[in-house]
Amino acid sequence: KRRDPDQPEFHQAVEEVLRSLWPFLEANPQYQQAGILERLVEPERAVLFRVPWVDDQGRVQVNRGFRVQMSSAIGPYKGGLRFHPSVNLGVLKFLAFEQVFKNSLTSLPMGGGKGGSDFDPKGKSDAEVMRFCQSFMSELYRHIGADLDVPAGDIGVGAREIGFLFGQYKRLANEFTSVFTGKGLAYGGSLIRPEATGYGCVYFAQEMLKGIGRDFDGQRVAISGSGNVAQYAAQKVMELGGKVISLSDSEGTLFAEAGLTLEQWESLMELKNVRRGRISELTGPGLRFLAGQRPWALPCDIALPCATQNELDAEDARALLANGCVCVAEGANMPSTLEAVDIFIEAGILFAPGKASNAGGVATSGLEMSQNAMRLHWTAGEVDQRLHGIMQNIHHACVHYGEENGRVNYVKGANIAGFVKVADAMLAQGVV
Ligand code: NDP
Repeated sequence: KRRDPDQPEFHQAVEEVLRSLWPFLEANPQYQQAGILERLVEPERAVLFRVPWVDDQGRVQVNRGFRVQMSSAIGPYKGGLRFHPSVNLGVLKFLAFEQVFKNSLTSLPMGGGKGGSDFDPKGKSDAEVMRFCQSFMSELYRHIGADLDVPAGDIGVGAREIGFLFGQYKRLANEFTSVFTGKGLAYGGSLIRPEATGYGCVYFAQEMLKGIGRDFDGQRVAISGSGNVAQYAAQKVMELGGKVISLSDSEGTLFAEAGLTLEQWESLMELKNVRRGRISELTGPGLRFLAGQRPWALPCDIALPCATQNELDAEDARALLANGCVCVAEGANMPSTLEAVDIFIEAGILFAPGKASNAGGVATSGLEMSQNAMRLHWTAGEVDQRLHGIMQNIHHACVHYGEENGRVNYVKGANIAGFVKVADAMLAQGVV
């Protein structure tokens, strides 16, 4: 905190990990002696660069670009790019730090990184987005590579942006390599990658619910966000017989009291991915838009926060408990504040931190890299089956390290399970 006083999200992410890791470190002094934690909180490298581009009016615009390469202990840096006005070094350090543990949990050989820009794709034309992406990649390309650092999408970086970024990388590097994941199917992408984070989150919640003899069938599920993760979490919940009672964006919440219908979900996909509209524009029988509200005051059995960091605070946590919510699985990164997490854990309900429950996206990115390396394509069924298996294994690892007093503390389990593999690799590789 003394070194970087202006990075509250990063401090929050480190504090969450430290709280559950501390007793483990005391019992395992070899990690302390090697200064593992002190090294893990400093990025191996962070680059900051100017991104100049010309808008449709011919004016020069300048944004900031970043790539934080946090840890390469167990594999090449891997983590998404975020384009959002709130992006700064502290936000990306929090995301990169989380990514190190998450990637380790997947059991695939991927280190951790994150990058992005304070550019806002909202309201920009396709041509503006393309010019921005090309300028961004003109600098980033010298810092990434198939065996060095493999970015992917995140908030504000979807199929369109990845296409433009990959195209420019290929042109500059003069090679077609697996330097990006989340690619379109026509140029090396993997089936199920778009669905993977949302599906994975639901698969993880399914495993948690099994532990208390429940499942999604007939349950009311509150989902926040309406982007990539929220869309596919909603689809999987509906497939499993659950009722999706909400979606949201930064302007408010769409309440579907009787549950979203399949036709409404299809309209959502068209609205968000083709027309690039707002969730308030999704109208129909049983749908009501609650301007300026978050979904957490709505009565539900299961909550899946899938929008952004710190979107669920102590007051929201209390409202969820009061309304009978029994399970919270994070689809977004750090959507719950530290206070909210404490409230869930104290109440003894099922709570999964994003680094465990949203790891399905990066896991499937790892599968995309494998397919690219072997120059073949697995079927959707094959990828989905592997994704399902990976989420079950992550759940198993959380239970192994997180069991206390007859309950599973998934925060503790995920942090320790993610840490051990990275720490052992660092011990073996010496002080670097
Ligand atoms: P998208 O850009 O597709 O969607 C983001 C959604 O979150 C939009 O509905 C957006 O609404 C909403 N949102 C963003 N900022 C805010 C805010 N300040 N307040 C309220 N709502 C907000 O992103 P993704 O779905 O890909 O990512 C969502 C979360 O999941 C992020 O935390 C991301 O890091 C995490 N994640 C994503 C993975 C992936 O594979 N895509 C993998 C693992 C984690 P609006 O349009 O109003 O901004």
